[in-house]
Amino acid sequence: MKRKPFLAGNWKMNLDRKGALELARSLRDALSASVLAERDVAVFPPFVYLDEVVRALAGSGIGVGAQNLCDEKHGAFTGEVSAEMLVDIGATCVLVGHSERRHLYGEGDELCNRKVQRALAAGLSTVLCVGEQLDERDSNRTDLVIGRQLTAGLKGLSAEQLGRVTIAYEPVWAIGTGRNATPEQAGAAHTHLRGVLAGLYDARLAQTVRIQYGGSVKPDNIATLMAAPDVDGALVGGASLKVDSFLGIVRFH
Ligand code: PEP
Repeated sequence: MKRKPFLAGNWKMNLDRKGALELARSLRDALSASVLAERDVAVFPPFVYLDEVVRALAGSGIGVGAQNLCDEKHGAFTGEVSAEMLVDIGATCVLVGHSERRHLYGEGDELCNRKVQRALAAGLSTVLCVGEQLDERDSNRTDLVIGRQLTAGLKGLSAEQLGRVTIAYEPVWAIGTGRNATPEQAGAAHTHLRGVLAGLYDARLAQTVRIQYGGSVKPDNIATLMAAPDVDGALVGGASLKVDSFLGIVRFH
């Protein structure tokens, strides 16, 4: 089954207001409707710039999402941002379970699942990130770890809800390290994840879900990664911060 490639830029805690808007406007000007007809593109700016980036990209066809959200609906949760607030300012998508949230801020599978549920209930689409650490890969536990993260993250979701979820496979050892997974490693993990989806739902539905690869994606490795089995796009950190490198990834062929 042919799935539309989905290329997304996670800006993390980078850029200032001016830089965020310049990058957004440059992407809008560079990405024509014909490019966006062939591939979905989204950016995930820091919270404080989200509103302005949404406005800068309104009508461009480029999606704008948040890097995180609260698992609660509203109330006394100092420092948190709700799914409804994201919808209110026009964000359409949210990352859940990025490895930096899991490993620097201790977010576990149950919390990730509550966040996914909250995001979908509010009408956001969700990118659920999974990925093994180096010691887990070295001890042949990659499939076990990412299968567990996927199963727990999707717990309780209907088939309709799954339709609004993208999976991002991001091996922790490849994020921000300059050491990307080989196409063979990425393909094997993605095929495993699709098999887990088939077991949780059914094979037909599993074929419709997009699985992005993330971890040191650059313009010069995107094409070979995209050629690997079951790789449907990329979640890009560092290389999404410069317009030329992100465009080089979006326009892979
Ligand atoms: C990421 O943070 O999701 C990521 C993949 O980062 P980088 O591309 O910098 O490795």
